[in-house]
This record gives sequence, C-alpha cells and structure tokens, in this order.
Amino acid sequence: MENETSHGAPDRPHVPIRMCAICRGRFPKGTLVRHVLTPQGTLTVDSDKTSPGRGWYLCSDPLCVRRFAKYRPGTRKGRRHA
Ligand SMILES: [Zn+2]
Repeated sequence: MENETSHGAPDRPHVPIRMCAICRGRFPKGTLVRHVLTPQGTLTVDSDKTSPGRGWYLCSDPLCVRRFAKYRPGTRKGRRHA
C-alpha cells in the first residue's frame, strides 16, 4: 500500500502564501507586491521579482500602501564592528 502524501484541501490549489509586512495578513503571493531593500536603506518595488535577498510583501489594501510608505525595516540596531 502506498503511503500517499497529503496535498491539503482539493478545492484550494497550492499557492505560495506570503505575509503583508504591514497588516500581517496572509495572502497568495501573486496578489502581493514584493519590495526589496536598496543599498540606501529604502524599500523599492521589486518589479522584476529577481532581486536577491529578503523581500517585503505588501497587500493591495490602500491603508497598507500608505503605511508602507513610512515603513522602515530593520529598526533593530545592527551590530557594527569598528
Ligand atoms: Zn496589508
């Protein structure tokens, strides 16, 4: 007897789920806009979806869009070696 792996609910196709950086709601990746951090420390839309490194996802909620404009990732102080 084969030990079949579970694929979850059959009526919900598997799509990557990502979390909005602002409201922390979970949405299908395709509905979110990925942002990446520039060397200048600002967030920019990763329009090509090819930028390496960590991405921040933003949902389509206008409130999140507004708040995201002021959102600054990495509020923790980074360790600096003198
Ligand atoms: Zn959101």
